[in-house]
Amino acid sequence: MSDNSLRPGVVTGEGYTTLVNAAKSGGYALPAVNVVGTNTINAVMEAAATANSDIIIQLSNSGGAFYAGAGMPDGFQAKVMGSVAAAQHAHLLAEHYGICVAMHTDHANRALIPWIEALLDEGEKYYEKHGKPLFSSHMLDLSADPIDFNLSECARILERMAKIDMSLEIELGVTGGEEDGIGSDFDEAADNSKLYTQPADVLQAYDLLNPIGHFSVAASFGNVHGVYKPGNVKLRPEILKNSQSLVQETHGTGNNPLHLVFHGGSGSEKAKITEAVGYGVFKMNIDTDTQFAFSEPVGRFVNENPRAFLYQVDPQDGTPYKKFYDPRKYLRAGELGIVARLQEACEDLGSKGRSIAES
Ligand SMILES: [Zn+2]
Repeated sequence: MSDNSLRPGVVTGEGYTTLVNAAKSGGYALPAVNVVGTNTINAVMEAAATANSDIIIQLSNSGGAFYAGAGMPDGFQAKVMGSVAAAQHAHLLAEHYGICVAMHTDHANRALIPWIEALLDEGEKYYEKHGKPLFSSHMLDLSADPIDFNLSECARILERMAKIDMSLEIELGVTGGEEDGIGSDFDEAADNSKLYTQPADVLQAYDLLNPIGHFSVAASFGNVHGVYKPGNVKLRPEILKNSQSLVQETHGTGNNPLHLVFHGGSGSEKAKITEAVGYGVFKMNIDTDTQFAFSEPVGRFVNENPRAFLYQVDPQDGTPYKKFYDPRKYLRAGELGIVARLQEACEDLGSKGRSIAES
């Protein structure tokens, strides 16, 4: 346990910055895992507790909607209230897992700014009541828009977030891959300078946002969402180093002044991950890998017990199948798949055994 230890549970404000700084100075990064419901959120907390690692839990807008229920009539309301429900779930339960959890929302493009603003309405209400925000941070991804619009909107939203002790993640440069609908033609895209964040843009962001509040940068260095054939993607972590150096030299800061985020980390080489972490990456997003980690054992369970998914009682020999089709059986198999996959992630990122939660 370090001097910087925190009470277990959801961390926000100073607790969140302590968590970020502990990772950066300790030379490790935290997995940031997308969840879509109680099974996945609980599995991620269990995984973190098992690895004795702190963890970042995040929801996309569609993950939030699914959390509220795919049948909820008002789709926008579902995106908002489902995300709120997930955050409240974590506030209630995380401390009982004995680790620190940062709650975050994933990509919000221009069309989703109203989602973020509605979440801030809820966050402000929660802050008034509890003295802390619902979420530790939100992401605003306006990387598809001109940089001036991107940064002025980020500044406007961060002004509001800073008042309730929240951090903002921004994106500069475009992360390729399915999640963003950019397509998967990376042989061509890899030559595109838009796929690599420009250090001058990062400096512009730092100049504008650093005086306002706490923020982090998802930078593009050849990373892509989803998993593709090896060799299709050329990761260039030195781009992160160049951005850090430019800010450090311009402002005379200490080493690695920027808090960097690695999107599209599923399937990355361990050496490149370690290099990126050395350049100030404290958060690596993991979504695709944990989706498969959940679904693969569920599929195996169904394949091993096919008749239990056709009959309650076998018409041939009268075997009762209740103990196989009980949803807890296969959902638990999926949860354990996530727990196992995240042990590897915590090892790759160096966060295993490094929780700063008081025991
Ligand atoms: Zn992403």
